[in-house]
Amino acid sequence: MATYQKILVAVDLSSESDAVVQKALLIANPDTEIHLVYVQEPMDNVYVGIVPQSAAFSGLGDLEAQLGAELKQKLLTLGGKFNVPTNQLHILNGSPAHEIHRFARENDIQLIVIGTHGQKGLQLLLGSTANAVLHGAGCDVLSVRVGADG
Ligand code: AMP
Repeated sequence: MATYQKILVAVDLSSESDAVVQKALLIANPDTEIHLVYVQEPMDNVYVGIVPQSAAFSGLGDLEAQLGAELKQKLLTLGGKFNVPTNQLHILNGSPAHEIHRFARENDIQLIVIGTHGQKGLQLLLGSTANAVLHGAGCDVLSVRVGADG
């Protein structure tokens, strides 16, 4: 069986990201293109329904831009650690599963590698990023156990 030529690794830039990237590298061959993808969710998406629009949202744009710059730096550091070229590091904006699916489709990705905490009980019902990515993916998906019970 031919190995994967294009792999998308979904990273949340937490300390768990290393384990997810390392697993992707185990599967890759020297010619495989590895793309690290972080999706930044718009803050008003995250807080809508929790705090009312208005005063709470003023200045959110600045905060979002500052956060974006810090996330970019973290992604550059992660990419540097694993020798992933900078043009294969991506920060997308929107909902993680939706953006990961879109990127995979538009870039002929053959495998998505994603972390999973092995949710149980209520967490399982609410779903996780890995569940959302698995459902609707047009390519293979590898979920890598991360975290305390990983
Ligand atoms: P979670 O759903 O928070 O348990 O995250 C599980 C995994 O989903 C992480 O290890 C990442 O692989 C991926 N993930 C979570 N959030 C993001 C994000 N904002 N951008 C890219 N991947 C993410």
